[in-house]
Amino acid sequence: MTAQSWRSLRIKKYQFSLRLFLFLNLTSALISVFSPLSQVFALTIPVTLIALSSVGLLLGHWAFSHKKINLPLISFTFGCLWAWHVAIKAPLFTGASVNYLIIALLGIFFIGVIAFSNNIVAFTLHSLPVLIACLIIDNGAHWVRMLYCIALPLVGISLQSLIQKRNDDFAQGLMYKLLEERQTLNDLSMLDPLTGLYNRRGLQNRLETLLALDGSGHFVLLLDIDHFKAYNDHYGHMMGDQALIQVSAAIRNAVRSRDIVTRYGGEEFMVLLTNTTPDGALQSAERIRQRVYDLKIPHMFNQTVATNVTISIGLAPLEGDDVEAALENADKALYEAKHMGRNSILTSEQLQPA
Ligand code: GH3
Ligand code: MG
Ligand code: MG
Repeated sequence: MTAQSWRSLRIKKYQFSLRLFLFLNLTSALISVFSPLSQVFALTIPVTLIALSSVGLLLGHWAFSHKKINLPLISFTFGCLWAWHVAIKAPLFTGASVNYLIIALLGIFFIGVIAFSNNIVAFTLHSLPVLIACLIIDNGAHWVRMLYCIALPLVGISLQSLIQKRNDDFAQGLMYKLLEERQTLNDLSMLDPLTGLYNRRGLQNRLETLLALDGSGHFVLLLDIDHFKAYNDHYGHMMGDQALIQVSAAIRNAVRSRDIVTRYGGEEFMVLLTNTTPDGALQSAERIRQRVYDLKIPHMFNQTVATNVTISIGLAPLEGDDVEAALENADKALYEAKHMGRNSILTSEQLQPA
């Protein structure tokens, strides 16, 4: 979205440049006719065309501002019309017409500099026909002065576009960096900071993509660490966190990368096993349970019972895209698995006959 507004800003600048150019041409044409130098009145065809097409293009551009503009073509056409006008008008001056030529040249250059302050191509296309006309009419007598007249704005525009380009590059770099950081923040907001697993937001995000693709052969596992309150009470919250990190890694490593592992609550996890069979899902659940058991994190449950950290798992198939129902079924199975004595797995199918 930011990149888009950046582009539309550039287009707006381009459009503004065109409108300014047309407006300046119109006023210059009017001044040339109604306030002529040395009272040399000349309502020429080209100056009429300049005035009329400025108005026409201004109105047309107003009405169809989304239409693509060919700035080089427009500036070159106006340049040629001005050259034609100068060629007709210069001979009307008695005596030294060079003053008129220089003033006409400067007028054209001013229009170019103001309208195309950082578009050297448009500036050159607009100025060149008039410069050539003036050089020819003057027989090259004042070519140094005339070239100097165009050299100055050319240098100015070059410097200006150099500075502008650096500014643009800087702003664009900044924009990309911002977009990148926004992406990173967005990614981070999907992860649980303690375990690095997906949080519920991340799960939601992955689910949307997954279910949009294909909704069959998925299984939901709900996992809960057994007697974790007692663990915290005995070893302290810090050790509790360490145990959570280890258990998370064990779960993550026990399944395939395309399976979605989420920290669902405090010491509860949810695993979405994708594209598998009921047997495959049960095997994965068993592998997770075993891996956590194999961590052998000591857990002195009470004065008499010493064991290690274990988890219980409830398993349910995902029917269609009804994640809520699957979670509910998995939760019931988990509840029963706890009742069965913990460190165990129960599937929702096993529940149903009871
Ligand atoms: P059960 O076997 O029935 O699941 O017993 P439990 O003690 O695990 O269940 P309970 O829901 O009573 O307690 C969950 C405990 O998990 C309580 C809380 O102290 C602990 N816990 C939850 N989140 C965190 C965490 O981020 N860090 C630590 N250290 N402990 C947590
Ligand atoms: Mg719990
Ligand atoms: Mg628990």
